[in-house]
Amino acid sequence: MTQRHQLDLLDNAIDSLNEALTKYQQAKAGDVKAYKFCVLHLSHFLELVLKHYVTLAHPLLIYKNPFAKDFNDESLTIGLQEAINFLRNEGKDLSEQFLKDITWLKKLRNHIEHYKFDMEVADVEATIGRLVHAFVEFDQAHANMELDDLIDSGQYHLFLELANNYDMNLKKAENEVDDACRVNHDDPDFNVYHCDQCDHDTMIPDGDSETGYRCTFCGSEESGYMEVRCGLCDMPWNMWQMKYLDWTDNEDWMYVCPRCLGDPNYVKDD
Ligand SMILES: [Zn+2]
Ligand SMILES: [Zn+2]
Repeated sequence: MTQRHQLDLLDNAIDSLNEALTKYQQAKAGDVKAYKFCVLHLSHFLELVLKHYVTLAHPLLIYKNPFAKDFNDESLTIGLQEAINFLRNEGKDLSEQFLKDITWLKKLRNHIEHYKFDMEVADVEATIGRLVHAFVEFDQAHANMELDDLIDSGQYHLFLELANNYDMNLKKAENEVDDACRVNHDDPDFNVYHCDQCDHDTMIPDGDSETGYRCTFCGSEESGYMEVRCGLCDMPWNMWQMKYLDWTDNEDWMYVCPRCLGDPNYVKDD
């Protein structure tokens, strides 16, 4: 029974993936509404495939209570969050971006299910690409399913394209950073920061950005690694070390450094 459950999971997961790819193709061909179904199927696929990975550790782990006396069709099974927790507890690497994208997709799915569907096609495409890429990376590192056999041969090409798009876009973003470095190599104020949204060293000065910086890969304008100046002493610190405060209670928001805040780790008391 549990053995069958396990096979069902993988079969259903792959069915959903194939469906998602078909819908993606239709959307790309001009039927924009098909993105909606692509999102639904892809999110279903990710949920099932992550549960499938859990059952690779032990088939009974699909149940909320693997110590129950017996199992039947009514036995409660784990949810997506529990699957993610288990894989992390097992020491499997699930990147912040991957988890964030899954959450985003889930939210989008809920909106679709409640007919409040509204999305930016560019966002949907970019996120689908990131998710497929992250899934392939995860699978290669941990399970190595034979994806080329599992995915419909007609869709496999598209699948690879989606996974590789990510690499191509990253290359493009890195080239943009290299170019900017070359042009600005004698500007002492030019910095490249690590982007904590997408985890790449792709944050460079950008005149149109509110923070003065933008990630050439994910477009984020903020990263904890960016240096900002303290509103009180004007010394530069990493953003993650600063507190953003309304210093005078007068809507006078500013970053304040740990030293000015009297943080004992930074204030020498000699
Ligand atoms: Zn980024
Ligand atoms: Zn300060």
